[in-house]
Amino acid sequence: MGIKVVKRHGSSLKDKLYLPAIFGGMKTTFKHFSKNLKDTSKIISMSYPEVQPADITDNYRGVHRLTKWDDGSEKCVACYMCATACPAECIFIEAEERFDDKAEKRPTAFSIDLLECVYCGYCVEACPCDAIRMDTGIFSFVASKRSDFLVDKEYLMNNERGKDFPND
Ligand code: SF4
Ligand code: SF4
Repeated sequence: MGIKVVKRHGSSLKDKLYLPAIFGGMKTTFKHFSKNLKDTSKIISMSYPEVQPADITDNYRGVHRLTKWDDGSEKCVACYMCATACPAECIFIEAEERFDDKAEKRPTAFSIDLLECVYCGYCVEACPCDAIRMDTGIFSFVASKRSDFLVDKEYLMNNERGKDFPND
């Protein structure tokens, strides 16, 4: 049957010692370390959070917001498309009937668990009404309780680019 036996990688004494691989990695690390010591102008790390990044682009997927009509009411029609598309299953919606000329339904409750969210943007893509966006530019948020990361409809409707997380 012409079976070809392939030598198992990592079976030599040199591989089993691990030391050559460790020193190889350290050599690369010290090479960059000494290069950056001689010329600090090319170091691109910043002292975050004291120094905040100023180059958050419009395309950056930050914390969500719900868009509004001119009268301040929600554009969301409670169709559940975003919740269905969400791979993290972290969007929770409760709907009610709507009696103005804007839509047939509206959400009475709309919340997102930001600890579960993976910021994939599928909810934005799935929305047929441009009712949910991730263009706030908010990339950093902290809280002391898990429950504080469950942002509700009121927060999402008043969320704006550059606005701090409620618990900052
Ligand atoms: S960004 Fe992704 S994970 Fe987060 S709420 Fe939207 S669909 Fe779900
Ligand atoms: S945000 Fe968009 S996709 Fe989600 S329920 Fe509202 S209208 Fe539907």
